[in-house]
Amino acid sequence: MRADIVTIFPDFFRGPLDYGITRRAQEMGLATIEIHDLREFTHDRHRTVDDRPFGGGEGMVLKPEPLFECLDSLGIAPREDRIAGRVRQSVVLLSAQGQRFTQAFAAELAQRERMVLICGRYEGVDERVTDFLADRELSVGDYVLSGGELPAAVIIEAVVRLLPGAVGNDASTQQESFTVDVKTRIAEGADSTCGSNGLLDYPHYTRPAQFRGMAVPEALMTGNHEEIRRWRRQRALEKTLRNRPDLLEGSPLSDEESKFLDGLKKMD
Ligand code: SAM
Repeated sequence: MRADIVTIFPDFFRGPLDYGITRRAQEMGLATIEIHDLREFTHDRHRTVDDRPFGGGEGMVLKPEPLFECLDSLGIAPREDRIAGRVRQSVVLLSAQGQRFTQAFAAELAQRERMVLICGRYEGVDERVTDFLADRELSVGDYVLSGGELPAAVIIEAVVRLLPGAVGNDASTQQESFTVDVKTRIAEGADSTCGSNGLLDYPHYTRPAQFRGMAVPEALMTGNHEEIRRWRRQRALEKTLRNRPDLLEGSPLSDEESKFLDGLKKMD
C-alpha cells in the first residue's frame, strides 16, 4: 500500500511513523508513506494556505487551491471512480464532523492500494474539498483536536498493522477487540483459543504467575483449551458489558454466552 499524507506540518510525522510495526512495514516494502507539505502547492511569497471564511465568523479556513493542486500532482484517480470502487484508492479528509473511524474502516482501508489522508487545521477545510475531492470524511472520536495530523497517524497505524505480513502473526490482528468474523478462522484451526468476534479483547496475563499477592487466574493455568476459551469469552463479555455495552448488540453470541450475559445483567 502507498499512503500519502497532506499537511502543513510535514515534520510532525518524523516520530510517529518511525517506530514499531509501521516502521517495519515500511522497511519490508509492505507500506510506502509519503508526506506532502501543502505549502509547496502555493504560489505567493507568503506560501498562504488559509483565508478568512465567507460569511464571517471565527478563525481561518484552509483554501481549496493548494489541496486540489497537491492531489493533482499525486495522480489519484477521479473521485467518482474511487466512490464506485473502480479503483482501490481512497482520499480521506480528517474531520471532527466525519464518520467515526472504526476497526471496520481500518480493515476496509487496508484493502486499498493507495490512501491519501488530508490533515485539516484552523477552523477546518473549504467544504469543496469534502464535496469534490475527498471520498470520505473520518473522525477519530467525538472531540476536537487542533489538526488532522494525530488522527492521520492513528489511521496509518491502525491500517498498516492489518496489512498481511505487517505483524509477526497475522492471526493476532484477527482476534483483537472489535474484529468480527473470526469464528470460521478459529474453527479452521487458527492458533488461538479465543477471538473477540466483535467484543472487546479478553484480559491477558504473563509471567510471573504470582506477583505481589496477585495471582494469574487459575483457568489459564489448566492447559485445557476449551476451559481457557470459555473463560476468555466470559471475561470479554464482562468487560464489554462494563465498558462498551453498545458492542454487544452486533455481536454473535452462542446460547451459552447469551445466558451468561443475561446472568451478568441481572447481577448489575
Ligand atoms: N471547526 C471544526 C469543528 O468544529 O468541527 C474543528 C476544526 S479543528 C480545530 C482543525 C482540524 O483538526 C480539522 O479540520 C480536522 O482536520 C482536525 N480534527 C480535529 N478533530 C478531529 C477529529 N476528532 N477527528 C479527525 N480530525 C480532527
